[in-house]
Amino acid sequence: MHQSCLWGTLDEECVLIPQADVLTALLANVIDYLVEHLVPRLWYYPSATQRSMLVMTSDDDWSTVEQFEAMIAALEERDGKCTFYLVPGSHTLPDLVHLWAKRGHRFSCHPDFSAMVSSAEKNHSAYTSFGLDEQVLHFPDIIRTTSDEIRERYGVPIHTVRQHAIRWQGYVDAARVLAAEGIKMETNYYSIQPFAASYMTGSGRPMKFVDENGEIIDVFQQATQVTEDTTIGAHSFAPHWPTDFVLDRMAGIMDASLGGYYTGITVNIHPVSFAGYARELAEGIWDLARERGIPIDSAEDWLDFTRSRYDAELTDISWDQSKLSFSVQLPAKTPQITVMWSSHGRTMESVAVDGIKHDFVVANLWGQEWILLTLEDVSTEARVEVRFV
Ligand SMILES: [Zn+2]
Repeated sequence: MHQSCLWGTLDEECVLIPQADVLTALLANVIDYLVEHLVPRLWYYPSATQRSMLVMTSDDDWSTVEQFEAMIAALEERDGKCTFYLVPGSHTLPDLVHLWAKRGHRFSCHPDFSAMVSSAEKNHSAYTSFGLDEQVLHFPDIIRTTSDEIRERYGVPIHTVRQHAIRWQGYVDAARVLAAEGIKMETNYYSIQPFAASYMTGSGRPMKFVDENGEIIDVFQQATQVTEDTTIGAHSFAPHWPTDFVLDRMAGIMDASLGGYYTGITVNIHPVSFAGYARELAEGIWDLARERGIPIDSAEDWLDFTRSRYDAELTDISWDQSKLSFSVQLPAKTPQITVMWSSHGRTMESVAVDGIKHDFVVANLWGQEWILLTLEDVSTEARVEVRFV
């Protein structure tokens, strides 16, 4: 067992278990078991049948246009969507970005120190001699300068990020900087050896940062579980695993997620690596997901759903043994959201949404029966009435 940072606090034997997600589900299910009436809540995913999610991201790292095109073509063959984090001085042209965005991919920035040293009005000599450690002192400027550059050059909103070389500052200081810049989700926590391809933070779910005093910071952390550079890459920080080994591990992670953790899996593949050593790994991961019905979607789309779910409220809940009713309130129109409740051994008779009969799904989750109801295109409110036999 290693003895610094996370090393020594996270059991290497347990890194394939999303422990925080297991414990939060346990807490919610214990509450559900103990209360007398049925308690509706929100499912982790947009649809009633979804059990996991591949959050697909790609750090530009000055890849060529051809490398982007190769990766996007392979991804689209598998109905995948991706968020690409563009670097300062990216080789990718705005017209191409707009074309790819029309096909469902999303673009944001990959903040790097080079955004500062390349800006004409700065005195570069003071900056260029800095190593990575000193560059971190300029963290707010790096975030601001890169965000401005990518926003202006490509006309894309900057809502999710991963920093180049995953630079971070303090415990949650970096999250505060991102929040001030209007960034809503970040993917910097990156599973690395001895925790490569694992749930290093104990979670695959989005969760807002909390500071030392309990104050919540309005940025979701979506940790990154699997990347090519920290598994099969030639870097000193990688275990240099064979591709087959990582794919076996991924199949296990996906099956465990579908089988009871119901946890998301965030992936990063750089276009330059895809076109080099990582094509077999990337395509293998996407094929494993597709074979299992796990959607491959961008971090931005995942953020959109996450924000709707986070801001949703279940109100006016009433329960009288044969009938459960409640309202779902949303701050804005939402394409898809799923509510659920445990049957507690009761037999369902019908479900109505705003007075109209509605289909529902009966599923076994965590070893007991649950009813899941997917609401489509809810404007701001829906009233649900559930009748039992
Ligand atoms: Zn990078």
